[in-house]
Amino acid sequence: MATIFSRIVAGEIPCYKVAEDEQFFAFLDINPLVKGHTLVIPKREVDYIFDLKDEELAAMHVFAKKVALAIGKAFPCKKVGMAVLGLEVPHAHIHLIPMQSEKDMLF
Ligand code: 5GP
Repeated sequence: MATIFSRIVAGEIPCYKVAEDEQFFAFLDINPLVKGHTLVIPKREVDYIFDLKDEELAAMHVFAKKVALAIGKAFPCKKVGMAVLGLEVPHAHIHLIPMQSEKDMLF
């Protein structure tokens, strides 16, 4: 069965899309820690980020960097934090969190 994130990429479940390319997709977290909290995922269904091939992992970080620079301009913040959790959804993802202080990264 497709993961909830694959269903988002397929357009079966609505989301607020932030960015997309051939391999990756970025959208706002449904339960954000702060405004602009964004998830970056591979379109390919992979359980956990460290299951990705090295080249994919590197490309995902390059894509995440572009998204982070964009949301860092769009939302008030000092820096955009990046976190890997993966406890809830079994589809690889990176959290990008526009931070005013360290407290904004407290999950
Ligand atoms: P994690 O797996 O890293 O612990 O957390 C998964 C994240 O995905 C959570 O921050 C949660 O709010 C977000 N999330 C779960 N389901 C959905 C959904 O259907 N839509 C969106 N936009 N975010 C979701």
